[in-house]
Amino acid sequence: MGKKLVIIGSGAGGASVAAEAKRRDPNLDIVMIEQGDYVSTAA
Ligand SMILES: Cc1cc2nc3c(=O)[nH]c(=O)nc-3n(C[C@H](O)[C@H](O)[C@H](O)COP(=O)(O)OP(=O)(O)OC[C@H]3O[C@@H](n4cnc5c(N)ncnc54)[C@H](O)[C@@H]3O)c2cc1C
Repeated sequence: MGKKLVIIGSGAGGASVAAEAKRRDPNLDIVMIEQGDYVSTAA
């Protein structure tokens, strides 16, 4: 079973964490949970 990363909030911080985590482990399964209607396009 692969590793999973759950990120709460998809602002600049959440998007940056997701991008860096994926760079370090391309097989990582990432789920971002956002309460708002939009996700950041930063990072
Ligand atoms: C009016 C304004 C203008 C700005 N203009 C600029 C600019 O021109 N250039 C620039 O570089 N910076 C600008 N900034 C600053 C920039 O927006 C912030 O530095 C940046 O958004 C911070 O990112 P963050 O991920 O830490 O937080 P946020 O962007 O606040 O992201 C946090 C996210 O988490 C979500 N969230 C919170 N709690 C939960 C929960 N319990 N469950 C699910 N989701 C949750 C929120 O909905 C949000 O989407 C501006 C800020 C403001 C207020």
